[in-house]
Amino acid sequence: DILSNLVIPEKNFTTFDDIGGLDNIIQDLKDTIFFPLEASKLSFIGGNGHHSDIFSVPKGILLYGPPGTGKTMLARAIAHHCDYNFLTIDNSKLDSKWYGETEKMVSAMFSVAKKIQPTIIFIDEIDAMVSNRGEMEHEVSQSKKSLLLQFWDGFENSNNDRIIIMGATNRPNSIDPAFLRRLPKRIKVDLPDLNQRKHILQIILKPYVDNNNFNYDKLANLTKGYSGSDLKELCKNASMYFLRNKTKNDNKELTLGLKDFEKVLQQ
Ligand code: ATP
Repeated sequence: DILSNLVIPEKNFTTFDDIGGLDNIIQDLKDTIFFPLEASKLSFIGGNGHHSDIFSVPKGILLYGPPGTGKTMLARAIAHHCDYNFLTIDNSKLDSKWYGETEKMVSAMFSVAKKIQPTIIFIDEIDAMVSNRGEMEHEVSQSKKSLLLQFWDGFENSNNDRIIIMGATNRPNSIDPAFLRRLPKRIKVDLPDLNQRKHILQIILKPYVDNNNFNYDKLANLTKGYSGSDLKELCKNASMYFLRNKTKNDNKELTLGLKDFEKVLQQ
């Protein structure tokens, strides 16, 4: 039904090992979420078990930066790392057809999140849902924003609920300030630099190239300005090029070569 279309608990297998070049951000996420959670399970000498003020996890976290830089992967991987369920809300399905159902969707989302907690609720393109302009395609109306805030604050005030909201956006400045305030921890995810591109390429290409001889540095050099998602696309295209041009005899120990990438980059 409509609600299960919008509220999707995922089987989640993304891990930090799948993510290239973002070690500092991964560390920041662990410091923000994982270590406080771990620490709150420990018993300290003072006894009475209530040290949540020191080891508190922010209830809202914003990942911002250009498209295709791994924000969704990071959210999935930290959920996996912390053994949290991962719930996404698909903004693109919030079109006019479902418009009247937004309240139900919002309340369903929070009740599912509570039921299956601990949960990370991931809202991709959160700016499109709660913008400060009130004119965007998937924008929810003011009354629905208030409703959303009501639910959000409901669990924010309850220390028993283990729910974290993570938003992702390419346009942090377009987010309604009331929502931005509820995402106090903000992490910038930028386009990868040379070394980061190399690391991402190593992760994507490891199974397909001769890792001792493949010139990762050169390919990283040739892909200035590429996002992780662009790199993935390039690798797909290079492998297509390779498959189209391999000869019948080349069936064992296949390896993509730098020339396959160079050909695709020239097109
Ligand atoms: P958007 O803002 O467009 O939603 P995003 O920042 O959430 O993008 P992802 O959806 O996480 O980006 O990345 C898209 C795809 O690009 C990933 O599934 C992955 O294949 C690849 N990718 C992006 N960044 C990285 C990275 N740092 N390491 C490895 N793969 C990456």
